Amino acid sequence: MHYQRLVHLYLALEKTTKRLEKTALLAAFLKEVPKDEVQDVVYLLQGLVFPPWDERKIGFSSRLMLKAISVASGASADSVEKLWSKKGDLGIVATELLGKKTQKTLTSEHLTVKKVIDNIRKLATLEGAGTVDRKIALVAELLTSSSPEEARFIARTVLEELRVGIAAGILRDSIAQATGYSVEEIEQSADILADYGEVAHLAKEKKLKTVILVPGRPMHVMLSIPVKDVAESFEELGKPAQFEYKLDGVRLQIHKNKNHILLFTRRMENVTKQFPEVVEYAKTYVKGKSFIIDCEAVGFDPKTGVHQPFQSISQRIKRKYDIEQLAKKLPVEVNVFDIMYCNGKTMVNKPLKERRALLEKILKNIPHKIKTTEKLVTDDIKKAQHFYDESLAKGNEGLMIKKIDALYRPGRYVGGWCKLKPVLEPLDVVIVGASYGEGKRAATLSSYVIACQDEDGNLLEVGRVSTGVKEKEEEGVTFDALTKLLKPLITETKGRDVVVKPKIVVEVAYEEVQKSPTYKSGYALRFPRFKRLRLEEKKVGDINTLADVERIYKVQKGKKAAT
Ligand code: ATP
Repeated sequence: MHYQRLVHLYLALEKTTKRLEKTALLAAFLKEVPKDEVQDVVYLLQGLVFPPWDERKIGFSSRLMLKAISVASGASADSVEKLWSKKGDLGIVATELLGKKTQKTLTSEHLTVKKVIDNIRKLATLEGAGTVDRKIALVAELLTSSSPEEARFIARTVLEELRVGIAAGILRDSIAQATGYSVEEIEQSADILADYGEVAHLAKEKKLKTVILVPGRPMHVMLSIPVKDVAESFEELGKPAQFEYKLDGVRLQIHKNKNHILLFTRRMENVTKQFPEVVEYAKTYVKGKSFIIDCEAVGFDPKTGVHQPFQSISQRIKRKYDIEQLAKKLPVEVNVFDIMYCNGKTMVNKPLKERRALLEKILKNIPHKIKTTEKLVTDDIKKAQHFYDESLAKGNEGLMIKKIDALYRPGRYVGGWCKLKPVLEPLDVVIVGASYGEGKRAATLSSYVIACQDEDGNLLEVGRVSTGVKEKEEEGVTFDALTKLLKPLITETKGRDVVVKPKIVVEVAYEEVQKSPTYKSGYALRFPRFKRLRLEEKKVGDINTLADVERIYKVQKGKKAAT
């Protein structure tokens, strides 16, 4: 199949924001794609070249792309760089520079989907001497034989920034439309396989019924919906419900197949090597030839046994060396709360009660190593409230609340799991800097550096916010509106970053205050969310102080120390 056909689809998809139109376009296209190419085509549509659970990474930086564009177009690296800082998007740079050249070369040879995906896949596998040049040559080869529009999408795919906007739901619906399976059938298979490319292929082959969970291959996990209090959780899930502490750790799915254990994160990254003690616990204390269990691994201080917040054990996920030493310094306790597969049987279609009973049967509780999560099954609002207070007093994040007969359904669903967490008071802060975005947002300031003040009125950064600012005016304060307010206040520009006079006071919500060496205040707001402009009500002198931030941090920490 010619790559050009895919590019025409990308262009058509870019022109509409309407979900139904996108689905129809995609469905019509997928119907036409030959069976043996549909898997690769679906990967490319998602901006991927490997299955989402695959560990291989393209790993081609913007700097290398700059060189590849320079090689392919004949333009000097300097001029490519200049155009890049003007346009803010290497895809557009590729289109512009190759447009000039490809008029000549756009002759007999058409790029195929296979050639594009093969070359990009090779980028992930090349090793050894001369790798960088060979990688540049592979991308340059594609760019040289592409049309200006093809070049844009090739550059973006290689950089892993396709941005065509095909949400999983649209892909699911269009595969259903194109193949005649129901949306539910497609979704269930995708939850199990975690791979829409493979689902599309099997659906086209009419072999979707053969899809089953396979221990050893990561799956999507079940997620929750926030509720504001215990009463709301009963409304959502019925009575009685199962309450569990919401622990602050790393989500791990543990797979056992024969005697082989594999660990995956929520994002399906393989972290088996990083947690050797977890492998040992799963082998020793969980019975069964094969299983898939769902857990939260929580860090604790080996001397005091006190739970550590997520950020302290997060370093274990990335660690590639001295793993055993780090495991001793920052050990984890595995808190298991679900089982999706056991001894050849898929458990996801059994109710929670049954799954939990099985789990308790096969798992031996060994505190500080591995155990099932504490649970309270109740229909009593007071008992549930007490359990919530107890959880917070012990330093946990809150509660997870689960419908007792819910099936295990990956993703976020109404009527399955809820989460209850205290809301931290929003803070008033001032914008002291900002950055221009990429692509469509290249001329828009789209991420904002925010600061609180110390007692002398010195401004101290506490993070960067972007979430919560809207695209469309009718939805609230937009990136464009903030850009308009900030542009006249710019005092310094460095690449895409600007410093602004501190005038714009905004209210932000967040999930937690963390210690952070990155920002001058020594703290960072975790997951900050823009709530509103406070221009009318607040001047810079009225914003929250470092003392406020410290107080919130200590309240959280105090809770943790009480464990
Ligand atoms: P959050 O940032 O609030 O943890 P999230 O987006 O990671 O949310 P959600 O499903 O919304 O995921 O919240 C539940 C998360 O809480 C799970 O992903 C899991 O990592 C963690 N967790 C802690 N304790 C439990 C528990 N007892 N049961 C299920 N999940 C738990």
